[in-house]
Amino acid sequence: MNETAGEEFAVSIEPRATGGAPLIFAFAGKDLVVTGDALPSLAALGASASLDEAICIGERGRSTCYALALRDPQAPPGLRSIGLRAVFGELGPEAFAMASRAAQLLTWDREHRFCGACGTPTERVAGEPARICPACDLHAYPRISPAIMVLIVRGREVLLARNKRNTTGMFSALAGFVEAGETLEETIVREVREEVGVSVNDIRYFGSQSWPFPHSLMIAFTATYVSGDVTPDGIEIEEARFFDVDALPQLPPAGLSIASRLINTVTAELRSR
Ligand SMILES: [Zn+2]
Repeated sequence: MNETAGEEFAVSIEPRATGGAPLIFAFAGKDLVVTGDALPSLAALGASASLDEAICIGERGRSTCYALALRDPQAPPGLRSIGLRAVFGELGPEAFAMASRAAQLLTWDREHRFCGACGTPTERVAGEPARICPACDLHAYPRISPAIMVLIVRGREVLLARNKRNTTGMFSALAGFVEAGETLEETIVREVREEVGVSVNDIRYFGSQSWPFPHSLMIAFTATYVSGDVTPDGIEIEEARFFDVDALPQLPPAGLSIASRLINTVTAELRSR
């Protein structure tokens, strides 16, 4: 990724840039195919790889970026494949963002080959991230599933929880998917009540992050504790309590997820009060 370091990635759906070699985000199954710490050329991907089947995901400098699903779930000879999470550490945050977009569009493309209403094979639409049914005109767009994350503050303490599926002992902010018909604020109030049994107010936006596992948009907030005893639901949340900002438990690793940025920013601000 070094040859165009410092140039911004711009999302687009039609190839526009000229002059640069294409940047190909090729996936073998769910994993990104790389050579060393760089993206492979089309030639290196082998005879079966063709840009005709690729999805344009944007531009970086003078290069057009493509997402491409390889037929073989194994990396071609001489190349290796890495999981999306590893892309962040091995190729950097910008490559992770581009690979995330690529993975989400490929997942959507693969899962919408047939019309959900009438079963007819769908077709890609030029210049639009959409698949259309030629029989009934139904359009299918990439799915994005919004989810909230919330860090609850009580004085100099923050509420952190350990998820049942997480076996590393790590604590994080609460999170949950937005249900149909809910505002983000309603999701926060419901998730907090369901997962730990407390009520909150003063909900404030912190930031957001595309989270491609498989197609979420994580929207992070802070909120102020109002009332209730912290009671983990025992289903999703195994353990939850308020921690003093000077006695925090094991936290999410810095970098990859917005959870780390949310917790570090808020606790630093509380310490400085
Ligand atoms: Zn149809």
